[in-house]
Amino acid sequence: MPPIVTPSSSESTPSPAQIFAIANQKGGVGKTTTAVNLATALAAVGESVLLIDLDPQGNASTGLGVSRSERSPGSYEFLLGLAPLTDCTRESKIPGLSVMPASVALAGAEIELIDLERREHRLADALNAPGADARQRWTTILIDCPPSLGLVTLNALVAVDAVLVPLQAEFLALEGIGALSNTVARIKKNLNPKLYIAGVVLTMVDRRMTLSQQVEADVRAHFGDLVFGTTIPRNVRIAEAPSHGMPVLIYDNACAGAQAYILLASEFIRRRRTATESPSHEPAS
Ligand code: ATP
Ligand code: MG
Repeated sequence: MPPIVTPSSSESTPSPAQIFAIANQKGGVGKTTTAVNLATALAAVGESVLLIDLDPQGNASTGLGVSRSERSPGSYEFLLGLAPLTDCTRESKIPGLSVMPASVALAGAEIELIDLERREHRLADALNAPGADARQRWTTILIDCPPSLGLVTLNALVAVDAVLVPLQAEFLALEGIGALSNTVARIKKNLNPKLYIAGVVLTMVDRRMTLSQQVEADVRAHFGDLVFGTTIPRNVRIAEAPSHGMPVLIYDNACAGAQAYILLASEFIRRRRTATESPSHEPAS
């Protein structure tokens, strides 16, 4: 494994673990890429990280090199209470990074959850169950959400402290973002009062294109300080890495995409510390 150039971070990580959902109901905006590479960058600076793949497409599992035959028990069994945390998680090939893989069975969970008691709380209950103690086992837990606002994503939003929203820097980037903001506000009001938006990450940015610049300006005007200063450039090495079953940070540590995710991790750590210190976090309207 090539050495990883890491952000300089020596501060102690908060304990117990903070949990983040990476969500946007729009497809293909860079949720999984951000989940896999942020998780890898955090593990590289010495954090102990769990990445929960909550998308039946299983792209985060693929991106970490978990073969299809190794995906069960995983997030489906955990969500439905069919298997305990220790059975549903395993170490990835990245030191410090554990994964809870997703199998295609998770596609059925959307329907199966409907008739269950506490159907929006299943993931939170499972993570907080005595004996699971997920927040004590890792320093950061990231959840890669599917491109929908269905019951599976709701379970993630009820279980987490905060949401990280990747936005693709292209036409209609903000389309549907109101639905996500409204969902976050509704969950905060009714199901998870501490929920906040940790930030918006612009992905697939191409600063040579006027459109990309315009979208970035629009998104910054709309969300203000919620938008990370770090943006992720469109970079072919990022697109290639998953087919090799590895994060771009491992596939080509020197490429612009990998370096951007390292900077994003530094900013994420800084912002998380600030958020922990200031108690009021209102989601964007
Ligand atoms: P879905 O909604 O289907 O889960 P997603 O939001 O998780 O999608 P990704 O799977 O991360 O999005 O990215 C969509 C596609 O774009 C993938 O093929 C990925 O490799 C590619 N991609 C993501 N980020 C970049 C980037 N910065 N540069 C180039 N390609 C990228
Ligand atoms: Mg995805």
